[in-house]
Amino acid sequence: MKRDTAETPFFADGLKFSCTRCSSCCRYEPGFVFLSQVDLALLVKGLQMGYTETMKTYCRWVKAGGDLEWLSLKEKSGYDCIFWQGGCSVYEYRPLQCRAFPFWHSNLASPEAWEAAAAFCPGMGKGEVHTASVIHNWLAHRRAEPPITRKAKSPGGEC
Ligand code: SF4
Ligand code: SF4
Repeated sequence: MKRDTAETPFFADGLKFSCTRCSSCCRYEPGFVFLSQVDLALLVKGLQMGYTETMKTYCRWVKAGGDLEWLSLKEKSGYDCIFWQGGCSVYEYRPLQCRAFPFWHSNLASPEAWEAAAAFCPGMGKGEVHTASVIHNWLAHRRAEPPITRKAKSPGGEC
């Protein structure tokens, strides 16, 4: 097994990933797409709907651990993302969480975590090599733009 330390993570030589556009990360399974302040501002601008309308139409507060609620996109019936319309209808201004995939802290926690995620994403481990520097940039970008949270009010409450 490859060394995996803070100084030499298992992805030190880069990781292969090229999206096959299978769409499975946008559809079929329940999940959360968390929104940062920057994400929300981009959506409001891109949708040209205004903050309140964007929140009401596309967002929900979810419990995702701890006593906080996290701002996430809504899902349609069948668990498709609210923005899935035969493709991502907000692709140019989709949330950072989507743009950064699969270079998430959770997927990069260990080689095993990466392999486990790859079992659900046919693009991981294939195609373009993303350097360690590029991967670190995604991690830093996510840290710099954390999801919006609030103190929990009611379970699964809407915006
Ligand atoms: S699961 Fe992977 S290959 Fe499929 S659309 Fe998502 S990122 Fe692309
Ligand atoms: S915002 Fe777009 S890329 Fe992100 S989960 Fe929804 S449909 Fe997929």
